[in-house]
Amino acid sequence: MEPVKRILITGGAGFIGSHLSGHLVAEGHDVICLDNFFTSQKSNIAHLLPCPNFELVRHDVIDPIQLEVDEVYNLACPASPVHYQHNPIKTGKTSVMGAINMLGLTKRVGGRILHASTSEVYGDPDVHPQSEDYRGNVNPIGLRSCYDEGKRFAETLFFDYHRMHGVDIRVVRIFNTYGPQMHPYDGRVVSNFILQALADEDITIYGDGSQTRSFGYIDDLIAGLLAMMNNENGFVGPVNLGNPGEFTILELAELVIEMTNSKSKLVTQPLPSDDPTQRKPDITVAKEQLGWEPKIELREGLKKTIAYFSKLDLSQFRRPTENTLK
Ligand code: NAD
Ligand code: UDP
Repeated sequence: MEPVKRILITGGAGFIGSHLSGHLVAEGHDVICLDNFFTSQKSNIAHLLPCPNFELVRHDVIDPIQLEVDEVYNLACPASPVHYQHNPIKTGKTSVMGAINMLGLTKRVGGRILHASTSEVYGDPDVHPQSEDYRGNVNPIGLRSCYDEGKRFAETLFFDYHRMHGVDIRVVRIFNTYGPQMHPYDGRVVSNFILQALADEDITIYGDGSQTRSFGYIDDLIAGLLAMMNNENGFVGPVNLGNPGEFTILELAELVIEMTNSKSKLVTQPLPSDDPTQRKPDITVAKEQLGWEPKIELREGLKKTIAYFSKLDLSQFRRPTENTLK
């Protein structure tokens, strides 16, 4: 049996963090979930609160903290464009100062740290599909740059702490991930479309819907994060974690309407600035280095996600910002 580890998860109450917390608690590890609840709420991890090996700390990663742990998963950061653009300066601080604080903590305790980077480091890519050696096409002064450049500089910090101080790092670039425990007012496309379809409301297509994304189901991502954190072959990343199945936003809308048996109509809204026109991961590195590849296709993952949202009591959720579904 694996020895019990002390594991810190920043952003541990969020969508990905709550799944990871649940998984690591079930494996018997001592989990500290750290969150400022900007885009999540306590109810997302309420089921874990009675567990003796789960601890919740309300804290903001832009401030230093001293904790003694063996591993850190650094996930704290709003991930939905509408929320990370709400206070872009804070988003930059969260990415950069959060990374510095968590790298400093890991250096002090001599632990290992995994960073949740993103496919957004590739910007609006002119190489397709995107492999890790592609350096990206990011607008450094646009509305998305607080997130894109924040995540890019966080990657720089991770590699500098690794080279300069020998910190044991792991860097993953996560592509669009969806599943249960997403905040209903998250504002990203999968939760928006499912909520709209379940309520027979108009489905909001930004632009003409021809832009593409590759959607990965949460269970596959969690397996990838664990494979990366636990690999002992010296591979530190960066590594793409995503599902190479590529869909236009229109195709996603039609699939959600079909699967929810909805009467919703499609309506178009302006395309947000710098919205990437295409996105699809090349996962050769993940396959070779980690033996990882996704198993859950979009239809199967959507089925589970629709089942989750159809049972949700929306009155129990606070909107993180005013920028989500009305
Ligand atoms: P999420 O918004 O559900 O979770 C983020 C969590 O971080 C929330 O609980 C939020 O309250 C917390 N947080 C935000 N700022 C904080 C701060 N300053 N201090 C402490 N906590 C803070 O988003 P998610 O989808 O779970 O994403 C988790 C991580 O994965 C993020 O770093 C995101 O950039 C990255 N990522 C996610 C995706 C995706 O498709 N879900 C894709 C690429 C990268
Ligand atoms: N999108 C949309 N309608 C919505 C929400 C998003 O058409 O209600 C589009 C958005 O413009 C983008 C894609 O769906 O092209 C994915 O958006 P999301 O916010 O999920 O994440 P992104 O991949 O852009 O970070």
